[in-house]
Amino acid sequence: MRKIKIYCKNCYKPFSNVVSEIDEKSLIRIDGEELLPDNSIIKTTDLEISLPENLDIFLSANSELNIEDHSDSNRFQGCCGPGDFSKLNQVCSNCKEEIAVLFADCWLYHFLVFDNTKIIVKDFTDKKHIRRIKL
Ligand SMILES: [Zn+2]
Ligand SMILES: [Zn+2]
Repeated sequence: MRKIKIYCKNCYKPFSNVVSEIDEKSLIRIDGEELLPDNSIIKTTDLEISLPENLDIFLSANSELNIEDHSDSNRFQGCCGPGDFSKLNQVCSNCKEEIAVLFADCWLYHFLVFDNTKIIVKDFTDKKHIRRIKL
């Protein structure tokens, strides 16, 4: 499993600590629960829903992340949590670039998914040879 860290493409601030890349078998597809195990990341389009283009890099939402809610409250409509994944509702806490969708309503599993055009991915598996990669 690769060790991965993602950064804002606009300001180069890291969004997370180093997390582990997982495969689809590790996803937890239960309504109301986190889709990803703690401290993990996956690129996938193999879901029951179709997300807007370029939204395919999922990061577990439990850890300390350098992102924050969008100032437009209309992007958080849902019955008991943000339930609209048609628009980006998370921004970089440093430069405020729109970068991800947080979904946390009852009728589906919960997730945080990043726009792959707005992030930089680095492979930390070998700490002596950290390199930029595409997931
Ligand atoms: Zn930024
Ligand atoms: Zn709900």
